[in-house]
Amino acid sequence: MVKIVSIDTEIYELDNIDDILTHIERCGRTCYKSENLITNETAVPFISGILKSGHESVIEHANIIFSMPNNENNQKIFEMKDIRGLNISVEQDENINEKVIVVSGNLRALRDIARTYNIHDFLYAINKSIFYIKEDENTVFEGLKIEGIQKSRFSQIHNYITTHSILDVGAYKDITRHRLASFSIESTRYCNYSKGKFGSELTMIEPSNIEKGTPMYDEWLKGVTSIEETYMRMAELGAKGDQLRMLLPHSTKADMIMTANVAEWKHICNLRCHMSAHPSVRAVMYKMLDKFYAIWPNFFDEQYKKFAN
Ligand SMILES: Cc1cc2nc3c(=O)[nH]c(=O)nc-3n(C[C@H](O)[C@H](O)[C@H](O)COP(=O)(O)OP(=O)(O)OC[C@H]3O[C@@H](n4cnc5c(N)ncnc54)[C@H](O)[C@@H]3O)c2cc1C
Repeated sequence: MVKIVSIDTEIYELDNIDDILTHIERCGRTCYKSENLITNETAVPFISGILKSGHESVIEHANIIFSMPNNENNQKIFEMKDIRGLNISVEQDENINEKVIVVSGNLRALRDIARTYNIHDFLYAINKSIFYIKEDENTVFEGLKIEGIQKSRFSQIHNYITTHSILDVGAYKDITRHRLASFSIESTRYCNYSKGKFGSELTMIEPSNIEKGTPMYDEWLKGVTSIEETYMRMAELGAKGDQLRMLLPHSTKADMIMTANVAEWKHICNLRCHMSAHPSVRAVMYKMLDKFYAIWPNFFDEQYKKFAN
């Protein structure tokens, strides 16, 4: 029987450098629904595997924030602005009452700096050799230090949030249009829902815009039930995940991991909490906004006042 669940969202916290590997593994395993395989020893082999296979978008979910003195040598970093996923600004450091260069970015961007510019300072500062492109290279920047993992005391472009959401395929199609963010999503190609691991059933999201107990809801339920029956019959005939997914409707449940900086999240809230957005997207974005506001009332004050129910 089709399982019906509600939209939900949670924040995947990361604030300690030693938790970077487990955070990335947790985000990556969402794509394969293999979170149950996580143990204390699985992060390194899992990440080595994704790096070897070139599935590097998964390491975009961990962001590191650095600062360094604003001197002529360190200003070379501005030549690297073309690296995607990197944010650079000059900001006042209240701790020392001076302007500093603040650089932040995800691990993919920091590896791209090493590959493109042969600058390994950021990877060496993080000190996790699994991410190195080369070892024992000279460093270039002076006084580089880590200021935070995901969160920092600097501006909104240097603060990042990773969310895990349970939403329908229609909503994730809309949300993944936002380009300044990173995504890992349960794959409908690799997850075969006819297998026991998925309870041999399809899972749908309760529609946000079709009221339960109405004739229209009953028709929706009949429709998804019939899809499930066909799905299982095709699986019995030997259909693979790639073939089976051709049946799946917009209501199908998906797990989505999404990471962006606060500036982009605010932009997404402005567009997707708005009445003109689809009700499924609005439902998940309202939940996210509540959680963002609880952590960063200053950053999300405007959006919360505008959209909170
Ligand atoms: C109510 C609604 C209806 C929609 N309907 C449709 C539709 O019918 N068809 C459809 O195809 N899409 C539709 N969309 C999607 C929409 O067109 C955008 O693709 C999506 O909302 C992403 O937002 P964005 O472009 O503002 O910025 P993001 O992708 O979130 O990027 C953030 C900002 O970065 C900058 N930016 C990012 N990439 C570039 C770039 N390549 N060039 C210049 N600046 C860039 C822009 O300043 C942008 O605002 C709809 C969206 C909404 C909210």
